[in-house]
This record gives sequence, structure tokens and C-alpha cells, in this order.
Amino acid sequence: MTGTTRNAPAGKPVFRFAPSPNGALHLGHAYSALLNAEMAARLGGRLLLRIEDIDMARCTPAFEQAIYDDLAWLGIGWEEPVRRQSEHFDAYRQMLATLTDKELVYPAFMSRGEVRALIADSEDGGLNWPRDPDGAPLYPPADKRLGDSERRRRMDAGDAFAWRLDVEAAMAGVGPLTWAEFASEEMRAANEVEARPQEWGDVVLARRDVPTSYHLAVVTDDALQGVTHVVRGEDLRQATSVHRLLQALLGLPAPTYFHHRLIPDANGRKLSKSNRDTGLDALRAAGKSPGDVRRMVGL
Ligand code: GLU
Repeated sequence: MTGTTRNAPAGKPVFRFAPSPNGALHLGHAYSALLNAEMAARLGGRLLLRIEDIDMARCTPAFEQAIYDDLAWLGIGWEEPVRRQSEHFDAYRQMLATLTDKELVYPAFMSRGEVRALIADSEDGGLNWPRDPDGAPLYPPADKRLGDSERRRRMDAGDAFAWRLDVEAAMAGVGPLTWAEFASEEMRAANEVEARPQEWGDVVLARRDVPTSYHLAVVTDDALQGVTHVVRGEDLRQATSVHRLLQALLGLPAPTYFHHRLIPDANGRKLSKSNRDTGLDALRAAGKSPGDVRRMVGL
């Protein structure tokens, strides 16, 4: 593993960069990582690197190694050991168990195809199915209404299911929530933002194939790693509503957030991992320097 090891004393602000090794890092990741490093340095804080590899079908060791190589090339240091989410499924299971005990999660049996069909039926009937902030349809309420014995029967029969959060019940228990969002990367002032997790419907907390989901893993890790400052892309701003709710339900501290601008591609579109031109490996191969990358992302 490459990268500088920095051992900083506890009690300092803790930032993290948390990429998923399911593709090559691009300019947007470079901006996020460099901004995290810069903001951590500004506060004399620490920077952690977390590998978000719960999706073991899409994440590969080669992409993970490329993350270390790219960050080292950019001159970004991080602390060892790096936390790999795939090595901490037990921690996520424990968090889920807390929510199961509170009866705030339920097994959701409908497959994507079934959900699609049900929604198509309903929309054919003239109803507009509600969508989440990413545009995906909210999960239908049918499974939430299943009786205990039917649930047990289907689970015992080995039917595949995901665990979903009953967001209405969860919100009823905790009341209104807000999170603190820095007004700028200067971090001089923060605004209170109202969390509206209902907009996401009953989110998945443990997938059919993995004993966690992005939301549960990120909240668990930020707490277990003592993260005080979450700096990530604007595209995750709305997900913070769900994260704030999970923190409240699980009794975890809430970091302060800063959701930064996204780096567009040459056509003004959002960068994606499949866009080869803006991959850091491609830029490096084309002779660009880390300084060029900083300029390209406006740092
Ligand atoms: N792993 C996520 C991604 O690569 C980022 C998660 C986060 O920063 O909360 O988009």
C-alpha cells in the first residue's frame, strides 16, 4: 500500500475521503480528496481514507490499488490502516439489530421487477407514483403491512428480502431533525438544514446480498471512526437526511457536513467512472501533473 502514514493525536477534527473501488477515480474524486485534505489541514485535523466496497460484485482489488496510486500521485496522505467496509459487516449487523429490536425495520420481499410492474400498473391507472430525490420510485407500502406470521412464513421459506427502514415510524419516534452544513469551505459559519428523510421513503438498510447498505455503512463508519467533518459531493446532500435520521435512531454523534460543487465534464455533464478522458490514470498517462489537476478542478 502506498501513501504517507500520519499518526495524529486524538481530539483533532477528523475528515475522511470514502471512495468506492468500482471504477477509476476521476477529476471529481480528485477535487473531493484534495478539498478534504485542504480543509483538514486548515483545521489541523486528520484525514482518513475509507474504502466503500460493500458491493463486492462490482468492487475489485485493482480499482482499490488504483485509488492508493492516484491519491499518492496527487500528494495526499492518509492514516493506516485504511478501513475497508467489506471487513466490517458485523458492525453493520449490530446496528441493524438495534433497529430490528426497536421494530423500525421490516423485511421487504418485492424484487425490482415486481416493484416496476406494480408502479407501471398504478401509473397506467393515472396515478403519479412518488419518486425520491434521485428520481427513483418510492418502495410500495405492501410489505410493511404484512402480518408477523406471513413475514415469518416467507422468511422461513427462504424468500429473498432486504431490510427496509419504516421511515414514518422512525421519524415519529425522533421528531424533527436538522444537520449542520458549512456555508463554505472556509468553515466559518454553518447553517441548520432540515432533514427530510421521508422524501426517500423506506430506504434499504441491508440489501438482499449484503448485510448492509450505503446509508447504514456510512453512518456506522463515520461514528466508529470518530469522523467530525463530512466533506463530499453535492450529489449526496439529500442523502444526509437519511444519515441524520439513522444517527438519531442509533444514538450516534452527527458530524458537520459540507457538500461541495461537482466537477462537470467538457459538455457540462456530471462526471462518471466510465468517462475515460477525465480518469486520473488517463490524465497521468497524458502527461498531466498533480498541479494541472488542481487547476482543472479550480483549486
Ligand atoms: N462511497 C461514496 C462514493 O464513492 C461516497 C460516500 C460518502 O462520502 O458519504 O460516492
